[in-house]
Amino acid sequence: QQVYLNGEYLPLADAKVSVLDRGFLFGDGVYEVIPAYKGRLFRLEDHIARLNNSLAGIRLPLAHSVAEWEAIFRPLLADDGRDQYIYLQITRGWAPKRDHAFPQQTTPTVFAMSADIQPFPGRSEGIEAITLDDTRWQLCDIKAITLLANILLRQEAVDRGCAEAILVKNGYVIEGAASNVFAVIDGELITPPKGHDILPGITRDVILELAEAHRIPYREDIIALEALQQASEVWVVSSTREIVPVVALDGAAIGDGKPGPLWQRMDQLLQAYKNSLS
Ligand code: PLP
Repeated sequence: QQVYLNGEYLPLADAKVSVLDRGFLFGDGVYEVIPAYKGRLFRLEDHIARLNNSLAGIRLPLAHSVAEWEAIFRPLLADDGRDQYIYLQITRGWAPKRDHAFPQQTTPTVFAMSADIQPFPGRSEGIEAITLDDTRWQLCDIKAITLLANILLRQEAVDRGCAEAILVKNGYVIEGAASNVFAVIDGELITPPKGHDILPGITRDVILELAEAHRIPYREDIIALEALQQASEVWVVSSTREIVPVVALDGAAIGDGKPGPLWQRMDQLLQAYKNSLS
């Protein structure tokens, strides 16, 4: 497998980064995950806009145009039209001395690779989730590689036989450990508003656009944990898993314990939208 590292394409096994890289030492970097359906990058402009926000958020100057990024990613994608995603990671690069403050001069480390999108089994059957206290930092809108809290939260879910942790802060639903959350309450689709608490998910945006276009009632609003527990449907959504119905939360059924009708409709709309682009 060929990967991209700092301007070169090389076999994965030859792609090496210094142990003094600030990504390794401090987790000082940001990333993106960009699906490519049938070889076509999905909502690339949106992913690059979010990347630029993340880079600005960590004060790392690196400006490539969307076309420049696309030229970097293109050779990494398989030409047989299978569904893949690009993983892109940018760190503040290597510095001779370990120092928390930024080095005087930095050359960012830029790494990109592709991987196949594996169909997520829970997408049609539904998953079980648990709720956990959101132990992350206060700038969750930055897609930072520093994912220790997310990892511990997801692992706790897995340890308890669940596929996702839904994070709660001060009694309100925030997002999943690696996903955004939607609830269907009194027939209305609700997702928490954007802000520093959540990652502005591209899948989230697409779902809200599809709801608008197809006149499905929706609202961006805070969701109390009790309201989530009483919701007729709960979904967790992300680029690699798409829209996943949550059929049990903390061991109690959501709705009738099966994927709901609005999930089915929105999943069909999303598949149709993806197909219309490729
Ligand atoms: N929230 C978090 C914390 C994530 O890690 C992710 C993606 O992995 C998302 C939300 C969903 O974002 P997207 O739809 O852009 O994949």
